[in-house]
Amino acid sequence: MHTDTRVEINRDVCIGAGQCALVAPDVFTQDDGGLSTLLPGHEDGGGAPMVREAVRACPVSAITVSEA
Ligand code: SF4
Repeated sequence: MHTDTRVEINRDVCIGAGQCALVAPDVFTQDDGGLSTLLPGHEDGGGAPMVREAVRACPVSAITVSEA
């Protein structure tokens, strides 16, 4: 079974707390302004289970994971 996962960051909400990059460094990084951004090619989360941890860890719930 294959599911398409899509990770999105609401950068209007992100406060740059960096929890996501800490928890799932393969998927998230912080840009020059300190806001979270996805690493190129990891928009699908790379299937990393830590992405879900990042969703939980974000203090402002800026990260959403949707599955198609
Ligand atoms: S944990 Fe949330 S607020 Fe912090 S950098 Fe990541 S997306 Fe932004």
